[in-house]
Amino acid sequence: MRIVVLAGGIGGARFLRGLKQAVGPGADITVIGNTGDDIHLFGLKVCPDLDTVMYTLGGGIHEEQGWGRSEETYAVKSELKAYGVGPEWFGLGDKDFATHIVRTQMLGAGYPLSAVTEALCDRWQPGVRLIPMSDDRVETHVLIEEPDAEAGQGGRKAVHFQEFWVKLHASVPALGIIPVGAETAKPAPGVLEALAQADVIILPPSNPVVSVGTILAVPGIRAAVAGASAPVVGLSPIIGGAPVRGMADKVLAAVGVETSAAAVARHYGGRAAADGGRGTGLLDGWLVDESDAAAVAEVEAAGIPCRAVPLWMTDLDTTAAMARAALALAEEVRRA
Ligand code: GDP
Ligand code: CA
Repeated sequence: MRIVVLAGGIGGARFLRGLKQAVGPGADITVIGNTGDDIHLFGLKVCPDLDTVMYTLGGGIHEEQGWGRSEETYAVKSELKAYGVGPEWFGLGDKDFATHIVRTQMLGAGYPLSAVTEALCDRWQPGVRLIPMSDDRVETHVLIEEPDAEAGQGGRKAVHFQEFWVKLHASVPALGIIPVGAETAKPAPGVLEALAQADVIILPPSNPVVSVGTILAVPGIRAAVAGASAPVVGLSPIIGGAPVRGMADKVLAAVGVETSAAAVARHYGGRAAADGGRGTGLLDGWLVDESDAAAVAEVEAAGIPCRAVPLWMTDLDTTAAMARAALALAEEVRRA
């Protein structure tokens, strides 16, 4: 069975670990990774979401933190600081630096990001095929109130997503989300083919705006998901009206979506319209947490078959059960 997953960082990576356990070693899993979080630091190309997936599935992740390398040291960072060279707010450890050096070196030699990612995965053996959404540069920017704006000027500025998320801790309102470069980006080689040949497409509990939303913003990808012959099933990243971990509510607000499991489902939309006609959305099925069972009727009223199951990724077995529930729902809604 060919499974395709559109993944961000932590939420996507943890889900994938459960999916791998659920389907066993023979499975064919392709991960289309978000690169909108990518940032250039110290002359190096950093791809946080691709690396989180690679390290998590390859056994190199810092488990508690959810990103970066395990048993990391920060000698390079403190030496840079001694030179007065920042930014200090982005945590790059020594082991992690090596990944970014190899990546930047290969990109400089002319390899596309997809080939570089494949080369990095040769070491980590994540057990999935990890493809960046695009080889072209896409950088998510967040529109915020200009802090220095003179009173009454109503100034706004766009900051890099990492500055909003990591430096500002999403503590100021996001007025808009702009995937800079997405409109002219092309899907990386293999992305559209994987979606067309998939037996199941899964939207994991990744951020619907700045992870999955950015992937879908690359022209051709949304249409390939909406038009795929495979069933498309998603798992809610929102439980009980709150993002389980992180600050997804801040970016949902920026796109006018309420922080609830049902609102995120409606945001993705159903592939079959409620009246049985052709919908314009992406989902054939949606899973909400058992504590959100009351949302099932609302989601189904929007034409999306919905089930309530435990969605806390507390350990590998629970996460594998989530993946099995997603695959079971996919079979249930698979069109003959
Ligand atoms: P990021 O790129 O590192 O932010 O990771 P993703 O976009 O892949 O996933 C982040 C989202 O995962 C967060 O917005 C949370 O809502 C969601 N999330 C994290 N842990 C859990 C969990 O245990 N269960 C569910 N359902 N969602 C989770
Ligand atoms: Ca991310």
